[in-house]
Amino acid sequence: MLIHIEDIKVHYGGAEIIKGISLDIGEGEIVTLIGSNGAGKTTVLRTISGLKGSSSGDILYDGKSITQMSPQDIVRAGISLVPEGRGLFQYMSVSENLNIGAYVRNDKKAIIDDLEILYDSFPVLKSRSKQKAGTLSGGEQQMLAIACALMARPELLLLDEPSTGLSPLMVNEIGKIIKEVHQKGTTVLLVEQNARLALGLSMRGYVMETGLIALEGNSIALQNSEHVKKAYLGE
Ligand code: ATP
Repeated sequence: MLIHIEDIKVHYGGAEIIKGISLDIGEGEIVTLIGSNGAGKTTVLRTISGLKGSSSGDILYDGKSITQMSPQDIVRAGISLVPEGRGLFQYMSVSENLNIGAYVRNDKKAIIDDLEILYDSFPVLKSRSKQKAGTLSGGEQQMLAIACALMARPELLLLDEPSTGLSPLMVNEIGKIIKEVHQKGTTVLLVEQNARLALGLSMRGYVMETGLIALEGNSIALQNSEHVKKAYLGE
């Protein structure tokens, strides 16, 4: 397993938000975590990223515990988060944001090469490289947020609600980008409220409800589950 989460519990103040969840992601998978509002999906991603501490349990990455590591060291180890709301520096240019994405690296030449490779993959970002991030459309901002995370050369990309606020056309575009990133060798954990999109892209999935994993399985089986159909696919 690339990442193994073992029975983690996470509190905000006195409230237990994650009540003991275990989750595995194998190298080369796209795994999705779906669930209702407030189930704790973002908290799981923040905990993996070291932005929120867990009260108990362990997170093993490549067999080693990362539970006590700083967020920077977790990025260095190969895990990048594209946060909910995209986390861009709105008043900085596209290229400045991309360079900040590489902040944990010091291989300057390779960073310049990677920037060119990313510009080839995201031509719209190249044509807008001097434009302030805040002036991009929602879809372009989401592309930039993904590109910034890729600048850290992650093995595992954590995506938090990449489809939020986007038009159906743009949602498709972001879906294609996630597939391409995966095909180029990055493992993906995708948190989504758009269960149809998420189960369509992923191989396996977990359904989270109020801090617990309520269901897990391969994505086709989840799509056919009566509970998932009713609660998350509007069928
Ligand atoms: P959404 O889809 O709405 O983003 P989610 O499944 O990602 O939901 P979280 O954002 O992880 O859920 O939130 C889970 C619970 O933790 C919610 O009840 C939320 O109010 C609470 N929570 C999240 N962040 C904090 C915080 N900084 N302080 C206190 N409570 C928090």
